[in-house]
Amino acid sequence: MRSRISAFAFSCLPASLAMATSTLDRAVSESEYRSRLLSALGGSGEGWEWSGDVSDTGPNSGATCACGHLIRYAYVLSHAVRGTCVVGSTCVENAPGMSASSLERIRAHVAALQAAENEKKRLAREAFRKAELEGYIQAFESVFNLAKAQREAAERRYPGWKPSAVYYALRGLPFPQRLARETSEAIMRGVKTTAGQRKRIERATQDYRAAIEEMRNALSAS
Ligand SMILES: [Zn+2]
Repeated sequence: MRSRISAFAFSCLPASLAMATSTLDRAVSESEYRSRLLSALGGSGEGWEWSGDVSDTGPNSGATCACGHLIRYAYVLSHAVRGTCVVGSTCVENAPGMSASSLERIRAHVAALQAAENEKKRLAREAFRKAELEGYIQAFESVFNLAKAQREAAERRYPGWKPSAVYYALRGLPFPQRLARETSEAIMRGVKTTAGQRKRIERATQDYRAAIEEMRNALSAS
């Protein structure tokens, strides 16, 4: 009965008080981690150095810092008397007395890892955009080939059919010259970004789609 009452009492706690309680819980456990780390180091960070020994244990490896926190990168600190101790890059900031140069080198290592991770993500995004662009190029090529075949069919049907450039321009048709030399490479030439290239290709595909429609109308009217 008693536990039921206390559960009820807890559920009736104002939200702000409940939040304050969980913040307090976190603060308590953080200080527990901190004191576990300090006791593993023998009281303080003094005399502990990082020689560059670190291992990537992989994501979700279950590896832990001396304090108990789960970590991926295990930094091995060493001490002339106490031997070695494995810590995480964040916790090491909580080891007062630790040599400034070791801390600096660990921070630089973390920054380099972050930069490598960002670069990996950037490359993955770029590969995705490139694959996407490939699809747009294929769509362009099939529309382009259709326009070309349509014009050739018109020329066969009407031998000597040689409308002027103005005729083509007015109807939004691709000029014969343009049809002869247009390629996706030519359309994207000079555009550096994949996004810009895609925009150009999409635009050209729309142009040719419209041209096919115009040509169909012109031919059915003639
Ligand atoms: Zn830790």
